Amino acid sequence: MKKAQKDITSRIISGSFPQKDSHGSISMPIYSGAAFEFDTAEEMEDAFLGKNGKHTYSRISNPTVEFFENRIKDASGAAHVLAVSSGMAAISNVFMTIAYAGSNIVTSPHLFGNTFSLFLFTLEAFGVKARFCNLMNKEEIERNIDEKTCAIFTEIITNPHLEVIDLNMLSEIASQKGIPLVADSTLIPWPIFDASRLGVDLEVVSSTKYISGGATSIGGVILDHQTFDWSRSPRLGKLAQTMGKQAFQVKLRSEISRNMGAYMSPHTAYLQNLGMETLSLRYAKASSTCLQLAQFLQTIPSIKNVNYNGLTNNPFYPVSKKQYGDYPCAMLTFGLEDKKTCFAFMNRLKVIRRATNLFDNKTLIIHPLSTIYGTLRPEHKKMTGVPDDMLRLSVGLEDLEDLKADILQALAEK
Ligand SMILES: *Cc1c(COP(=O)(O)O)cnc(C)c1O
Repeated sequence: MKKAQKDITSRIISGSFPQKDSHGSISMPIYSGAAFEFDTAEEMEDAFLGKNGKHTYSRISNPTVEFFENRIKDASGAAHVLAVSSGMAAISNVFMTIAYAGSNIVTSPHLFGNTFSLFLFTLEAFGVKARFCNLMNKEEIERNIDEKTCAIFTEIITNPHLEVIDLNMLSEIASQKGIPLVADSTLIPWPIFDASRLGVDLEVVSSTKYISGGATSIGGVILDHQTFDWSRSPRLGKLAQTMGKQAFQVKLRSEISRNMGAYMSPHTAYLQNLGMETLSLRYAKASSTCLQLAQFLQTIPSIKNVNYNGLTNNPFYPVSKKQYGDYPCAMLTFGLEDKKTCFAFMNRLKVIRRATNLFDNKTLIIHPLSTIYGTLRPEHKKMTGVPDDMLRLSVGLEDLEDLKADILQALAEK
């Protein structure tokens, strides 16, 4: 979809519904029912065959969710968007669509906890193997790719390591080898993350995070940029003969999403539609506070290290600046003495909340190794590369000075 001249917030706020609401509602109503009625059997047949764009059943599509999908299309420039019930549903639906028994996924072990577990345990049972390698090393990536590779998968900034992946380098390898580049872009919202400029074919996002705004609901979206030639895919090649670059979206929407049954609920879409209206504002404030907080934390002697890709002394700063500009992400990590010191510090915080999740309006802290990765066996914990002295801070909308004061009082020895 071609982006109009106005900025994303103006476009989102001034956009109207496809059909005028009979009460003139100013926000998209929640069409919460399961089924939709037809005047004639002929019209019903056409709806089921996808010929008249009408909704039939809310596991398949729904007006409130479709409105949300269209907003994301507009904000991101994607050719097709499907909204699902969580970020994990987005990732699992993508691999249900492109992977096959005997295939492999080339990826990094530095992944969000459940994505790591999906690749390592769940998909393995269906004959799909993850090949974990260093996605910053071109030779290593190329060595791991073969004719059974169904995708390269990466997080655009790894969580919680905050490694910024060079997407142009990855997409060059992917297109040379004829495989799609699938990226989890949860950590940077549109239009700051521009997949078409960076060569990403499919995007998955946990809309629970920046998009929902205030952590109101769990959701996920799958974005297809229609840049990949699916005739090269063993799974979708046949469909691509008739559907061309739309092969993925057709398979996903008309088969996989229906059968997996994880389509987004209308209530979630309503909440996340509201979230979209303030996305740019919230991101600008939170990421700017995050940068200033990172600079401040660096000046405190009892903090061993501060990891934020927006700091000029960070090894990922150049690639981060090139891909995401001055305020790349509203999350940072830092190290204290050891796990015990981390816990004592967390327990003394009064403004910052002890909770998982990212990009709530509230600033959240977590000790990742004991929680997100807590149930992994020691050898798998080691693979994730998450140290025991690391705290992750997701920066919200509180005033910078209040956050600094809270951190200082919690660091002070009692
Ligand atoms: C949270 C998160 C997910 C999973 O999203 P859910 O909405 O919790 O299912 C996937 N990837 C990243 C990078 C995340 O931060």
